[in-house]
Amino acid sequence: MRYLIISDIHANLTAFETVLEDAGKLGEDYDFVWCLGDVVGYGPDPNECVELLRSMPHLCLAGNHDWAALGRLDIRSFNTDARRAVTWTRETLTDNNLAYLEALPTTFVLGDFTLAHGSPREPVWEYILDPLIATMNFPHYQTTYCLVGHTHTPITFKMSDNGSETESIQPVYNKPLRLDKKRQIINPGSVGQPRDQDPRAAYAFLDMELMTWEYRRIPYDIEAVQKRMRGFDLPERLVNRIAHGW
Ligand code: ZN
Repeated sequence: MRYLIISDIHANLTAFETVLEDAGKLGEDYDFVWCLGDVVGYGPDPNECVELLRSMPHLCLAGNHDWAALGRLDIRSFNTDARRAVTWTRETLTDNNLAYLEALPTTFVLGDFTLAHGSPREPVWEYILDPLIATMNFPHYQTTYCLVGHTHTPITFKMSDNGSETESIQPVYNKPLRLDKKRQIINPGSVGQPRDQDPRAAYAFLDMELMTWEYRRIPYDIEAVQKRMRGFDLPERLVNRIAHGW
């Protein structure tokens, strides 16, 4: 079984479609999609992204922006731009798509993999930004591997054999890497709003038979997305940031 791993689409349909084209054919190049949350928020195409995801065999986790769109969170803690985008997203989503987001789980375990949007300790909220935060999260899940999104940065945090140290490993693209049975927390990066100074859409493949992980990156038509965002009067700061990858 080959999984397409995506996260943080953030209502960016152009990036999402480009990733799917680059990933190849469902049923040939991959069999199932794991989406690590934040399907909506920031971008101009919330309904289209939810519906495209729903058209594929997939499992999706709840992200903080999905919850924000449902009105489950107090968005006073969000900055002004994020708040405006959340309000627009909430008003734009259809009842049917809101009901879909409502039903998303916060964690999921299959075989040797645990999935969460933010972290196993705080599935919707926590950012695993560095080896220290990763170290504190290892006791909070039982499997060897944990897949997370939320930081919009592709990275792997790997625990040493004696558990005393955690190493952070930068992604290498287009090269399947063997999963070596060491406990690790892996982030595929973000489809629709990368924040690692690289504006290209990020995703990954997980091959359960070969036990390999492959990071991927693909450029997409950013200007087309910016044009739609301006058309909906979404905040200019959010329009600009997708061109710079932050
Ligand atoms: Zn996000």
